[in-house]
Amino acid sequence: MAPRSSNVIWIGIALSLTACSADTGSTTGSATAAKNAQSTARAACDTGTTIAAGKRLRISATVAPITSIVANIAGEHADIAGLVPEGTNSHTFEPAPSVAAILAKTDVLFVNGLLLEEPTKDLAAKNLSSNATLCELGTASLPVADYIYDFSFPIEGGKPNPHLWTNPPLARQYAEIVRDVLVRMDPAHADAYRSNADVFIARINKLDAAMVAATATVPVNQRKLLTYHDAYAYFARTYGWTVIGAMQPSNFDEPTAKEVARLITQVRQTGVPAIFGSEVFPSPVLEQIGAETNVKYVDVLRDDDLPGKPGDPSHSFLGLMQFDYITMIESLGGDASALKALDISDVTVDAAMYPQ
Ligand SMILES: [Zn+2]
Repeated sequence: MAPRSSNVIWIGIALSLTACSADTGSTTGSATAAKNAQSTARAACDTGTTIAAGKRLRISATVAPITSIVANIAGEHADIAGLVPEGTNSHTFEPAPSVAAILAKTDVLFVNGLLLEEPTKDLAAKNLSSNATLCELGTASLPVADYIYDFSFPIEGGKPNPHLWTNPPLARQYAEIVRDVLVRMDPAHADAYRSNADVFIARINKLDAAMVAATATVPVNQRKLLTYHDAYAYFARTYGWTVIGAMQPSNFDEPTAKEVARLITQVRQTGVPAIFGSEVFPSPVLEQIGAETNVKYVDVLRDDDLPGKPGDPSHSFLGLMQFDYITMIESLGGDASALKALDISDVTVDAAMYPQ
């Protein structure tokens, strides 16, 4: 495919989303507080009491990709309850009061953090046992200085872009932290947790390498993402892509008609080969923009809704990432064969409960 114009545009500004790419992260708060946040989150993952011998470890996890990562490491040795139903807006999700009963029996609660799941954390604060662990995988993985505030997550809103798991090197850290928590809380199954984690992390490393190989097949000036949902900021930073815009306003409403009109102009000017909608957030606006600009409109990306149904081979974190990356690479004129060759099967039986 012939390279197109690579004029950089400022869609965030055009949409009045008060955004600019803040790749170096937050400048708010004291430097000391920022430095302490990650170590505090890490330390929180080290709290909680080792379960009694002969007892099964009971785990809860928020979004489905995290549930899948946990399930790949825990295997048959723990009971795992997902909390956020797939296909719902995890950014505004509020758990039903009935989730309190699940939390009361939870030994370990894994959340993403970076302020994604505050209502769930509030419910957990009232219902988790004092022996339980509340581990924020994202907050524990990424220093505050590396947070990204951008289009749908402007710094004025105070909430950083929380989508760390769509970036394999950060997902690898999630897996390492999960492994360490499970080994500590349930030492009777430490060997199984370690060996499952070894295999799973090796698959994440292959995903990472395949993404590097696939990126190399996309013309440099087409390594650009214009998305609806703003879920690939850390991914883009890792692989040298540019997120030129995200259309979803920070309040998760639809863009206004005026914003859409301006966006159509901008899409025409930039010459992006494709624009990417979200399966989780269907947007008629995006379809309209694709039609009016004659740009390929791909509406199937997903950030926390796993492909297929529970039990399907692709219903996994690795399946999710493979699907998204193949979609992006092929839509932008690249060769996704390295990604298609990946083994995305679960390391062990995924017996987690995924609410639908
Ligand atoms: Zn999201």
